[in-house]
Amino acid sequence: MAEHVFQKCIDPNCGAAYGVEEVLTACPKCGNLLDIRYDWDKLSVPKSLKELEKYWTMRDVPQRFSGVWKFHDLLPFTELEKCVTVGEGQTILQNSAGVAKYAGVKEGNLFLQYEGMNPSGSFKDNGMCAATTHARMVGATRAACASTGNTSASLALYCSCLQTMKAVIFIGDGKIAYGKLSQALDYGAQTLQIHGDFDDAMARVKEVSKKLGIYLVNSVNPFRLEGQKTIMLRVLEALRWNVPDWIVVPGGNLGNSSSFGKAFHELYELGLIDRIPRLAVINAAGADTLTRVFNEENIRWNGGNTDRAKINAFFKQMNDEGRRANTIASAIEINRPVNLEKCLRALEWCDGVVRKVTDQQILDAKSQVGACGFGCEPASAASVAGTKLLREEGVIAPSDRVVCILTGHQLKDPTATVAYHCGDPQKFDEVLRPHGVTTCDFANNPVKVENDVDDIVRAIQG
Ligand SMILES: *Cc1c(COP(=O)(O)O)cnc(C)c1O
Ligand SMILES: [Zn+2]
Repeated sequence: MAEHVFQKCIDPNCGAAYGVEEVLTACPKCGNLLDIRYDWDKLSVPKSLKELEKYWTMRDVPQRFSGVWKFHDLLPFTELEKCVTVGEGQTILQNSAGVAKYAGVKEGNLFLQYEGMNPSGSFKDNGMCAATTHARMVGATRAACASTGNTSASLALYCSCLQTMKAVIFIGDGKIAYGKLSQALDYGAQTLQIHGDFDDAMARVKEVSKKLGIYLVNSVNPFRLEGQKTIMLRVLEALRWNVPDWIVVPGGNLGNSSSFGKAFHELYELGLIDRIPRLAVINAAGADTLTRVFNEENIRWNGGNTDRAKINAFFKQMNDEGRRANTIASAIEINRPVNLEKCLRALEWCDGVVRKVTDQQILDAKSQVGACGFGCEPASAASVAGTKLLREEGVIAPSDRVVCILTGHQLKDPTATVAYHCGDPQKFDEVLRPHGVTTCDFANNPVKVENDVDDIVRAIQG
């Protein structure tokens, strides 16, 4: 199999290729990102997506039970038996009439891809099972990541299950939601709190893992993004292999959007879908690098001839001005998205758009997701807030079928949720006001009552 799989530089002007047994997070020749590529002609590819349904009856095989590896035919970088799984990807596409109404989409046409249902509570497990599979293939005994929380929770979980690999995680000081930090600690990961933010932690983990030969699992890892393609495959599966009109996803380091673009591009090239959905990537207004790059600087993938000088000038100015990301959606609080160029490519492949939404819009949208039964963390709700915005602009038509990716579970960040709902002015000032939130229009306030039956009855009856 190995000879039909390789790593390839995404820059077509470089095009360097490397074996899958190499541990790389960038092209050694030009420094750009790498893709996993397949010689599909020499592999057994299904003739139709429906053919994949034959695996539905094989749920006694752990890899076929996995919502990632049941699509192994479309990410065959190693043999099925060698794939790491903890039962990730048992996630569902939920139709939500309530959220559709809020976002202005026709009832029945808005879907929430509920990735919070993963073992560690976020979509990151889709990628982590693939990255740890590769790490094990190359004999790694330690794996590291920088994280705003969910990557570290996921890595920590996989390492604690595997027992053959130790997790080393780098987090920005005070920049992590408690739900996520508690996971890393409980799963036994070596946890380093770097004095700085995500971007600082990212820069350090790259240096340190190189120095110590530790396997890096951030989304610069091309194997990880292979696993994340399956989120789109599950969406198609749930729609009985029909392609929706829009995929709306929050954008942080832009690994998800990049992998979604690759998934659809490959399916289209293989003739397994006849059209590609449009992609909407939603930034938080306080972490809007992609929005600026795409909508203001008008930088495009341009068939691989991206204007890198312009990107570099953009980041230089960002540094010179001391602009740092700041949003309550901590999972997307990122200055320099590591997959920026891959995401530009995905936007080209998927005729994509980019928008930003405020923390106020994010928290209001989040309350609607919760009220409709599919709670999520703040970053995830950017997809719903973004859909509402794109509907208001008329970019998304009312009758379009829209899939919003709910990237992480509600319990990841209870601080933000409680501050929004509890009506405590002190919590509001502490947690929400610094992020420009001014109202909690959809707050579900708890009611304080005396320890007395009559009082309680009165409170319930209103
Ligand atoms: C990691 C993460 C994101 C950002 O995804 P990218 O692939 O980095 O753009 C969004 N939401 C949640 C909950 C996350 O954990
Ligand atoms: Zn290269």
